Amino acid sequence: MTNHTPLLDLKAQYREIREEIQKAVMGVLEGGRYILGPEVKSLEEEVAAYSGTRYGIGVANGTDALLLTLDAWGIGPGDEVITTPFTFFATAEVISKLGARPVFVDIDPETCNLDVSLLENHVSEKTKAVIPVHIFGQPANLDEVTAFAEKHGLRVLEDAAQAIGAEYKGRRIGSFGDAATYSFFPTKNLGGYGDGGMVVTDDAQLAETLKSLRVHGRSPHSKYHNALIGYNSRLDELQAAALRVKLQYLDRWNEARRERARVYNRLLEGLPVTTPVEAEDRKHIYHLYIIQTEERDGLMEHLKSRGIGTAAYYPVPLHLQEVYRDLGYREGDLPVAEEICRRSMALPLYPELDEATQMRVVEAVKQFFDS
Ligand SMILES: *Cc1c(COP(=O)(O)O)cnc(C)c1O
Repeated sequence: MTNHTPLLDLKAQYREIREEIQKAVMGVLEGGRYILGPEVKSLEEEVAAYSGTRYGIGVANGTDALLLTLDAWGIGPGDEVITTPFTFFATAEVISKLGARPVFVDIDPETCNLDVSLLENHVSEKTKAVIPVHIFGQPANLDEVTAFAEKHGLRVLEDAAQAIGAEYKGRRIGSFGDAATYSFFPTKNLGGYGDGGMVVTDDAQLAETLKSLRVHGRSPHSKYHNALIGYNSRLDELQAAALRVKLQYLDRWNEARRERARVYNRLLEGLPVTTPVEAEDRKHIYHLYIIQTEERDGLMEHLKSRGIGTAAYYPVPLHLQEVYRDLGYREGDLPVAEEICRRSMALPLYPELDEATQMRVVEAVKQFFDS
């Protein structure tokens, strides 16, 4: 018997739906349409409906979903975009890629999302957009972010890569901003068997521009007339077919994650770790189950020696990334994000996890603090 508990077990999920996935994939192979065919179109409609938006535009990955949207809005050199330093690098990378400047705002220590009370200090005439990230599956303060954006005439792009199916005040995230982006990277709550991403929006003009940008800026009227300088960034039919199967399980899987999180919260009670908080009026879908402790590195080492998978999320806040040295940030500028980067780590969490395994994980945590 192996005594290994991975951080995430993608094979367990595949085993549960193997026949349906194989049937869907075979259907694409037999059908002969491999790029931007009926499966992508159906998935776009289904994910848009799921998100409460009119349009869905499939692209190659979650990073491109962000990049193409900012590009479609004309964001470039001389512009600033406000976002969080506590996220996956891609969120800020796309801003820089377009020649604009990411402006980082510190986070709320409880939810790890943007601290909305600080937004006003960071707005300038150059600010064009704000990207709230629903980090780890917990929605950002969308009312405050959208009110701030409206006041200053900014666009809001929800980075929902980690949060498909999460809810804010009883409504699924994805339709609060001017657009929202999803990633279908295999480890995400709705993950394919390869890369994939999507933008959802109510804006018909944006949808049309994105559909052009993803095929080299092609004119909607003619294949060999280019209206824009674009990209080659498409979601493929195989991924779309598999994702359509998985979308039907998403709510069930998210509920299972929430149940696993509740079990951890209960089992970890009394130990010197901070467990995640579900803020009022939010439905957190636990893309990751993150705990905080002063002894993060030691605890990770201990769990690893016991065959338990963990990971630091995120070890380096983006404003202190080496590549961003020229932005001029110093240690101490965004103290909450910096502190949480020293303390936070993920415990194994996936819908198929069972309580006995969770007890084993927590037993190992307890042992670390006892010794
Ligand atoms: C995963 C992720 C992305 C990027 O998605 P890819 O599909 O890997 O390109 C962007 N933002 C956040 C917050 C993510 O977690």
